[in-house]
Amino acid sequence: MASRNPAAPGASRPVFDPAALAVAGVRGLNPYQPGKPVATLERELGITHAIKLASNENPLGPSPRAVTAAREALAEAHVYPDGNAFELKAALAAQHGVDAAQITLGNGSNEILELIARTWLAPGRAAVFSAHAFAVYPLVTQAVDAEARVAPALPADHPQQPFGHDLAAMRERVDGDVRVVFVANPNNPTGTWVDDRELQAFLDELPPTTLAVIDEAYAEYVEKSGYPDTTQWLDRYPNLIVTRTFSKIQGLAGLRLGYAVSSPAVAELLNRVRQPFNVNAVAQAAGLAALADAEHVQRSVQVNREGLQQLSRALRERGFRVIPSVGNFVTFDTGRDAGAVFEALQREGVITRPVENYGLPGHLRVTVSTREDNHRFLDALDRVLA
Ligand SMILES: *Cc1c(COP(=O)(O)O)cnc(C)c1O
Repeated sequence: MASRNPAAPGASRPVFDPAALAVAGVRGLNPYQPGKPVATLERELGITHAIKLASNENPLGPSPRAVTAAREALAEAHVYPDGNAFELKAALAAQHGVDAAQITLGNGSNEILELIARTWLAPGRAAVFSAHAFAVYPLVTQAVDAEARVAPALPADHPQQPFGHDLAAMRERVDGDVRVVFVANPNNPTGTWVDDRELQAFLDELPPTTLAVIDEAYAEYVEKSGYPDTTQWLDRYPNLIVTRTFSKIQGLAGLRLGYAVSSPAVAELLNRVRQPFNVNAVAQAAGLAALADAEHVQRSVQVNREGLQQLSRALRERGFRVIPSVGNFVTFDTGRDAGAVFEALQREGVITRPVENYGLPGHLRVTVSTREDNHRFLDALDRVLA
């Protein structure tokens, strides 16, 4: 009954080298570095009660209504989800005053970004985004072997938007090869934003061969007059794709749910490349219930407003240069090796995010949390820097 070994070990066989066989973009790709889970840190250090302020998650958690709906949906987990997500799309369409045919759902909005790259980018085509912009734009661009054109950001000493998007510099890099421009509004990790006039002028100048992706993952947190809700601009700009997520203010990052609002023609193309069941039934149910809980969103905005002020003020009082943020996180210049500060904070049970990989050496990003946890971070920072 002995089975014959097809190739004797040690025989001279050509070496299998999967990396050499990969497309060029993937060979040079650095994988996205996610924030470390609390359980991992606690296991590594043998501590308890660590806090994670590294991934811009909602400190209040999900809406209780979303949790109940998710639990109920689990009982039907043997059935494939509604691949067209009829109810959730209808609710989102109503919320934004658009047609359901203009909504594309994703396994997180990151999947939407990937669908966009697979639909419009390829070798010989290019994407434009800003320096210090969200890390997923270069990732999805490179993965399909398209060219990434990085526009320089506004200067570090810019009075309102240090390190923010310079839309004029981005526009300068757009030519006939550029199929996609990515604008994060507000941007992560800088927390900077662009106003309606600037953005409108930028969109007015884009050629009809370029799609504009406006990533509004943190839109619900922004309380600035002049901050545009570009889901209302689709009639004017058929080349516009607005992305939103349930990961941030809705507190559903673990369920992976995001969406795009676009023209029906754009949505129809995204729909061709997406997997038929890319959004699971539990996420659909939770998302639908979350949309009906405006109070949870309001409370989240309120907690964030207070926490952002608390953290920004406390960091400035300590002499740090803080990038003014309109999101649920704040990035500041530690004035030293941010990796070392990050490591020391972790030993204190506080997980933050160094952002050297975003071209911001010395800077640390911290997620706004509850008053108590913001305090814990500040106390730990004081101990670490003492
Ligand atoms: C967090 C974040 C997202 C959301 O990603 P999901 O895949 O929806 O969790 C999108 N864009 C930016 C800029 C973000 O910071």
